[in-house]
Amino acid sequence: MSNAILVVGGGFAGLTAAIEAAELGHDVYIVEKSPWLGGRVAQLNKYFPKLCPPSCGLEIQFQRIRKNPRIKFFTLAEVTGLSGSKGNYVAKVRLSPRRTAPHSVDLGLLSATLEGETPSEFDLGLSSRKPLYKPMPFAFPARYVLDVDHLTRSDKARVAGARFLFPSEEPKDIELNVGAVVVATGWKPYDVTRLSNLGAGAVKNCVSNMQLERLASACGPTRGRIQRPTDGRAPHDVAFVQCAGSRDRNHLNYCSYICCMATFKQCLYMAEQHPEARMTVFYIDLRAPGRYVKVLEKVQALPNVSFVKGKVADVVQAEGDRVTLTVEDAVRGEKLTLTYDLVVLATGMQPSLAGGTMPLPMPVDEDGFVAGGEDAGIFAAGCARMPLDVTRTAQSATAAALKAVQTVQGR
Ligand code: SF4
Repeated sequence: MSNAILVVGGGFAGLTAAIEAAELGHDVYIVEKSPWLGGRVAQLNKYFPKLCPPSCGLEIQFQRIRKNPRIKFFTLAEVTGLSGSKGNYVAKVRLSPRRTAPHSVDLGLLSATLEGETPSEFDLGLSSRKPLYKPMPFAFPARYVLDVDHLTRSDKARVAGARFLFPSEEPKDIELNVGAVVVATGWKPYDVTRLSNLGAGAVKNCVSNMQLERLASACGPTRGRIQRPTDGRAPHDVAFVQCAGSRDRNHLNYCSYICCMATFKQCLYMAEQHPEARMTVFYIDLRAPGRYVKVLEKVQALPNVSFVKGKVADVVQAEGDRVTLTVEDAVRGEKLTLTYDLVVLATGMQPSLAGGTMPLPMPVDEDGFVAGGEDAGIFAAGCARMPLDVTRTAQSATAAALKAVQTVQGR
């Protein structure tokens, strides 16, 4: 029997599960495939329930991880196999190379001298990044990554032999002996390029709700100014298109749970920053669970926000990089064609495992959510199980951690 617990995923669920299990006296390994911990929450401008910036909640978790010697984490790491059985697993983990020094060094000046550029994954394509990069000031670990695939010829000459850089570092494989596994692989925004009727990601000034989070974030591509991506102008007319890809049997055949709340939050961002802007929310249903109804009431009370019940059928480019949408107003029974400066698609939440392969012996349902595995000592946490907000993600992760602890204690 191994006393240790493997946590797959280093987002909010994974961090919570790891801290809970370690604070109960267990060794924990976090395996995170991206170069930093924090997951999707790190990309948000603010998150519920307190609408605080991600740095505040994540920084507390990072501190607890730094101070707890029982937690070891591997970034740029993926589980490639799991053998054995409940109580005594061997997990094979592949570590991709970071190619920078193993301690925190500010490589910003060197990064600025490089020529290579590629769209920023962290800013969801709204900015570009250098091949030597760190996505945000509070990134943890506070280390840069050297992405050799996007170095130009002159960049290669510049980084060859540079102090603190190791361009030829190779991947490594390691093995971890663990007794139970928490799967906290999180979620990804639904791919807007599949939404052909909603512009398929090609209509200018039509952004996803996660892109709007990046525009509103102080460490985002516009330093927090919400503006039209094409010309930097403040938007005067803004539309929010709810259920963009959710509750649709051709896309996500379920309610994504968080996107109504995300839109209400984004109406508040907009009202604070551009009080003169008019906003319209096009919806099928408005979902504000529990105490969040107060947020909906606050948004409904804003003078510049209106709500239209009706599913948007079509989004197309209009003159001047404006955006025209067509919707059937379900209350008045008329078809509306309206043009906006900026349209925000409230895209839904899809489990990260959807469409991929996971080398763990656990079933997933037709949407990609984990649907079992507990008999084998494998416990899903957070949005790997179902669409959840951050508060419920933390509760789910705590529950998964306690089940994993019971497993390794032979209960
Ligand atoms: Fe649609 Fe709202 Fe459900 Fe999201 S939370 S899928 S926008 S009803």
